[in-house]
Amino acid sequence: MEKVIAGRSDSYDPREIKGLLESGFKRIGLDITGRSVLVKPNLLASKAPDRAATTHPDFLRALIELLIDHSCMVCLGDSPGYESLDRVLRIGGYTGMLRELGVRAVPFTREVAKKGSGISPYRDFVLGEDPDRYEAVINVPKLKTHGMMGMTLGVKNTFGFIRGFAKGRWHLRAGRDRDLFASIIVDIHRIVSPTLTILDGIVGMCGDGPSNGDPVACGLVAISRDAFALDAFIEDRFWPGAPLPVNECAARHGLVPPFEVIDLGLPPAPAHFTMPRACDTDWNLPRPVKRLLRNVLTKKPKADRDTCRLCGICAEVCPAGAIRLGEGSPLFDHRACIRCYCCQEMCPHGAIRT
Ligand code: SF4
Ligand code: SF4
Repeated sequence: MEKVIAGRSDSYDPREIKGLLESGFKRIGLDITGRSVLVKPNLLASKAPDRAATTHPDFLRALIELLIDHSCMVCLGDSPGYESLDRVLRIGGYTGMLRELGVRAVPFTREVAKKGSGISPYRDFVLGEDPDRYEAVINVPKLKTHGMMGMTLGVKNTFGFIRGFAKGRWHLRAGRDRDLFASIIVDIHRIVSPTLTILDGIVGMCGDGPSNGDPVACGLVAISRDAFALDAFIEDRFWPGAPLPVNECAARHGLVPPFEVIDLGLPPAPAHFTMPRACDTDWNLPRPVKRLLRNVLTKKPKADRDTCRLCGICAEVCPAGAIRLGEGSPLFDHRACIRCYCCQEMCPHGAIRT
């Protein structure tokens, strides 16, 4: 039986978090003393920590200090959406902490060929870093909503092993098929196969996540060796009754193990936790019906002219080439659009609505 450790912290006090993580490691029976460890947070874009779009730097500090106490050699890496890792680390407030703790930042810019396990129709994947170079990979997602996939949690966080713009190619292959995209995410997660997943849900994001939603205090820290179990626990708590595509795909393939929740002071669920507008229509419909009605049900992205600054990033990241800059705002070709919401995710000014 897998374990999901659920604890509470109402602040990003590194000492409090470190104590909680240490108890969690003990309960799980994990000994990583002396190992080389790659920490993989969510470093989606250059956002200040209080925007709740990225794993909080003080959460990572607590984890890294704990690993160093256990004589681990620690690296930290990710592949942000379109910016350099250096920029994301600097603006997000990580650079000084990493320097102080002697932790090397690893941009995921290599080309490492891997074979998938066949959950999706694809077998060949290219990762930006080889997880097998490390004796342990610790996956540290942020608890957030996600326009296309409902929520982004432990399993989705390992999609960050795909290099920046190459992520868009996987979106393009999946098109508007959320279930197909979910199966690709599951395959990538199984290649990375993290040793441990630790969810930063102290302040999560609800509404139109994963980058421009509303920060919401949840006070939750969850730890498990198995991200499928951890994600199933979070779905039950935050959005029961409407299966997230990644969780549904994992369950269909028998990948969600039986698990027990070990309560280390689990906080109450937040009173208001809204899901993204892009995903509020079709989640309870049977899959064949969803497929048939996909074009009608999925919401179209559009730009808010008052907020848009015509930076052009949405057009740059759109995998379908469905955006061009017009006078005063971007113009969308909704027939070409695959409803991946990468434009909304990457818009630095939160100007894209659905
Ligand atoms: S990314 Fe956002 S701000 Fe930039 S052009 Fe697109 S909608 Fe406007
Ligand atoms: S317009 Fe936006 S939602 Fe549509 S394909 Fe491009 S990035 Fe995805």
